[in-house]
Amino acid sequence: MKILIIEDEAPLRESLKSYLRQSGFVCEEAATFREGYKKLLNYEYECVLIDLNLPDGDGLKLVDLAKDSEQPTGIIITSVRDGIEERIQGLDLGADDYLTKPFNLSELNARIRAVLRRKAAIPDQMIRLGEIQIWPDERRVVAAGEELVLTRKEYDILWYLARNKNRVVTKDSIAEHLWGDYMDEAISFDFIYAHMKNLRKKLSETGCGDYIKTVYGIGYKFLVP
Ligand code: CA
Repeated sequence: MKILIIEDEAPLRESLKSYLRQSGFVCEEAATFREGYKKLLNYEYECVLIDLNLPDGDGLKLVDLAKDSEQPTGIIITSVRDGIEERIQGLDLGADDYLTKPFNLSELNARIRAVLRRKAAIPDQMIRLGEIQIWPDERRVVAAGEELVLTRKEYDILWYLARNKNRVVTKDSIAEHLWGDYMDEAISFDFIYAHMKNLRKKLSETGCGDYIKTVYGIGYKFLVP
């Protein structure tokens, strides 16, 4: 789950980032309108937090841009403006939720999860893919009837492949999904390879079928009938 935090107040941005990372999200940040604009244009996010008051532009324009992305993106406005006008305007433009600053971090977490559920990025029910069952809300996986103990990144890879089942998922997109845009490509490919190896080993030890296919030179495919 990748979240973009667009916020010009550095201390708040930092605390949002570290809190959301601890909660299991991959976070990227933008401190200005320009930076946020560029990231929204070039990358996909499951959710974006948009501060309306940015030094170099109106956050409402970013709401418009985020809404146009190919994958459904959850949009949460964070703002000190408490005016009903802005709230309505933001929601009219397609924002999913609106938090008035200052807000509580666990409240934000709950709102993000609710938005992701609505966008079906985190379904609240169990997903069955062949012999693999995934409970996305709890990050829980059972394969061939056996509970799997996965690391955070192993889980993230499995869930990302499962969400894109029967489609080729490139190493680039896995790297971007897992680490955002701040990891060196060669290193991230090595990490993906290592995590993938462990994930496959854990799956095969349960005796479940081999659903993850390597597409040589490109990436992987989660193949399920
Ligand atoms: Ca601000």
